[in-house]
Amino acid sequence: MSNSRKIVVVGAGLSGVSVAIQLLRKNVDVTLVDNGKNVSSIIAAGLINPLVFRRMTKGWRVDDFIPYLKSFYSSIEEESGTKFFEKLPIRRLFSTEHERELWEKKQLREDFTDYMTPLEESDDTYDRCKNPFGSGRIKNAFVVHPIGFLPAAKQIIAEKGTILNETFDYEELKGTTYKGEHYDDIIFCEGYHGMDNPWFSFLPINPTKGEVLTVRSEELPEDESLNRKCFNLPLGNKEFKIGATIDWNNTSLELTEEGRNEILEKLSFIIDEKVEVVRQQAGIRPGPISRRPYIGTHPNHPHYHVFNGLGSKGYLLCPLLSKEFVDFLLDGKELDPEVRIERYLNK
Ligand SMILES: Cc1cc2nc3c(=O)[nH]c(=O)nc-3n(C[C@H](O)[C@H](O)[C@H](O)COP(=O)(O)OP(=O)(O)OC[C@H]3O[C@@H](n4cnc5c(N)ncnc54)[C@H](O)[C@@H]3O)c2cc1C
Repeated sequence: MSNSRKIVVVGAGLSGVSVAIQLLRKNVDVTLVDNGKNVSSIIAAGLINPLVFRRMTKGWRVDDFIPYLKSFYSSIEEESGTKFFEKLPIRRLFSTEHERELWEKKQLREDFTDYMTPLEESDDTYDRCKNPFGSGRIKNAFVVHPIGFLPAAKQIIAEKGTILNETFDYEELKGTTYKGEHYDDIIFCEGYHGMDNPWFSFLPINPTKGEVLTVRSEELPEDESLNRKCFNLPLGNKEFKIGATIDWNNTSLELTEEGRNEILEKLSFIIDEKVEVVRQQAGIRPGPISRRPYIGTHPNHPHYHVFNGLGSKGYLLCPLLSKEFVDFLLDGKELDPEVRIERYLNK
């Protein structure tokens, strides 16, 4: 049963499809508009890692995000009959003795027991790759395979709402009427293209290009993801996604020799094997300047909203943040102060 509210969502990457699904769950009449230029959500590895290795800390709000995302992705799998979400052990190959010491300290703390497996001798002697400082296994890590998730989510949206395959034409939006059709709200989930949005370009997005390789390897293990200087994600049949480069302020999707060499060089810190490169891809992350997404309502246009700036951790952040955004929009609940766009007003 519709709650009689009619909303258009612009962009069908991870942000747009998640927001659309949350709205449909509240019986909103949803139209999703996408021009098929998706560049980030489909290229992403979809890894969900609760730890930040630099200082061996927990990621922002992971205690909230992890339980919610498990039920969110599983429910979409169930509803669509598609499998794309799985638990994936990540093994951090320590870069220095200091990093290992940090892990040893943190693994004793109660607030890390959900995320760190206490070091065992087998982690020191792990010999399936280079392991000079030992390694630690991360608990509660996952992967969402975008190539399964995005079509599954769109299938649900197409069944319950409407999908328009076109570029949203800003000139055609007059108040709350778009191409002659009235909508109660317009939500922009445009990824890095949001930089050109006439109402929300005041939100500073740093378009961050990332290149990834798919390689064939005989040596890399297929039962866990290894991480040192780069990640590798087992895809099956001895293929692995390896990445990713980080190139700030770059909106070019060109595949470069530099990108390829950088990834292969980083991989050489894990194995010596000369791997076969099967594929190279590039995408642009919608990088927020302040490390937190941009969520909220335009100060002068109360029916225009934004959900953007997921940066490099969209698959971790998006499920719960999209729910919190829809609760804010439909039920007037408070948004997390750290994501509110008010922080950029008057700047
Ligand atoms: C190489 C790489 C690896 C990554 N790996 C990971 C990872 O392992 N884990 C993780 O959590 N995150 C990862 N990310 C980050 C993740 O991809 C992003 O956080 C997330 O996908 C952003 O989703 P989005 O929907 O905001 O943007 P996008 O995916 O860019 O989607 C925006 C959509 O809006 C459409 N659009 C824009 N403007 C308009 C318009 N005017 N009209 C119609 N359509 C429009 C675009 O065509 C696009 O389809 C990675 C990113 C890259 C590039």
